[in-house]
Amino acid sequence: MEDKIIGNAIKNQIPAAFILVLLLIFLNFWAVQTLSARLQDAVAIPIFNASISPSQSNVKAQYAGANIVIITIDTLRADHLGCFGYERNTTPNIDSISAEGFLFSQAYTSRSLTGPSLTSLMTSLYPITHGLRDNGYVMSPKIDTLARILQRNGYQTAAYNAYHCNKKRFGFSHFFCALNNDQKVASSAINWIKKNSEKRFFLWVHLFSPHAPYEPPKGYDIFKPLGYSGPDYSTKKSIYSIKADSPTLPKGDIDRIVSLYDAEVRYADDQVGRISKALEDLSLDDNTIIVILADHGEDIYEHNKYLFHGCSIYDSSLHIPLIFKLPDKASKGMNDDGIVEIVDVSPTLLELIGLPSPTHFQGTSLLPVISGDGKKAKNQATVAELKAKIFSDRPIHCQASGSNGGTKRSPLEPMPSAFVIISAKCTIAGSNGSLYF
Ligand SMILES: [Zn+2]
Repeated sequence: MEDKIIGNAIKNQIPAAFILVLLLIFLNFWAVQTLSARLQDAVAIPIFNASISPSQSNVKAQYAGANIVIITIDTLRADHLGCFGYERNTTPNIDSISAEGFLFSQAYTSRSLTGPSLTSLMTSLYPITHGLRDNGYVMSPKIDTLARILQRNGYQTAAYNAYHCNKKRFGFSHFFCALNNDQKVASSAINWIKKNSEKRFFLWVHLFSPHAPYEPPKGYDIFKPLGYSGPDYSTKKSIYSIKADSPTLPKGDIDRIVSLYDAEVRYADDQVGRISKALEDLSLDDNTIIVILADHGEDIYEHNKYLFHGCSIYDSSLHIPLIFKLPDKASKGMNDDGIVEIVDVSPTLLELIGLPSPTHFQGTSLLPVISGDGKKAKNQATVAELKAKIFSDRPIHCQASGSNGGTKRSPLEPMPSAFVIISAKCTIAGSNGSLYF
């Protein structure tokens, strides 16, 4: 009633045209506020502004114009690579690249699930920010990606993917997919390199073979334990007969399963070797930055969680390899054991080629660490897990996202293997590490 009286009083005193102007201003304000609220429902903070951080505007262009090749290997645990100390010869090609590059021995993914983690890689945003909290989610096209940034700076961009064929294109101008066919993906990527060798390019190759089921191609089942006579586990039906919560398997069975996983790792490694050799044969290796990492690992046998990731925050699922090989091998054989994150990859690459990172990036450039000027990597990582039962083998400090947009982090105990879980409905985990949302 009071509003109506005031409205009538104003109407009697102010010309109709002025009221119309006021109405238009109000409608405009309402529309902006409503749209803003909806965007904030979809993503935790505004991330669509590709403005440049003043503090990063004078980055040194150490490798300006260099090509970039990112090779991600699905479900590749860091501790099953030779360069991470694994006893089997699973990764001779990656080991060679690592020997000529910089190895981060404590790199962690943002979520042990392909879609969210690869999106973090390509956007430098945590899952709670980019909004992909499961494989079925679709990323807003308004979110900037590494591919789009490089494209705007004169790069040819192409993705060759053995998984997520239709959904996760991340702004690449050329996208090729051969589902679960690493050899075809690598061959096609090599052909694309040959066709684009005269151009400045950004190539992303995603290999998939270490992901279950473990069906190594003929000639790759080379780690089979001698004398093993139990179930074979080398078929989809037999391996998937094991549930995530199966009773403890006999050691011989676990050894057999691990041998199959390792065989798939070796197969993926051979594809990495083919791509690396193609770059060398084309004399592109001295003008190409190569990055090798995984989207997540796998709980193959620990904690009675067989063939399990996605909701795991065990190290076996979160600890990933991360290797940078620079064109001039300036960081040959170097490494750092500080905790770094998958969201750090994109800002590192941009700084390496002399491009500033957008202000909305949540990762930190690792160039100060790679360049060997004495700086150490930060010692903390963030994992975003939502709408899922979470498994962990350490006490978890939990922190609700708030008005800061969910980016707040804090150091945890025990360090350095500690994580913050960011969630609007987060609760404190018990000492057994089980956490429920
Ligand atoms: Zn994956």
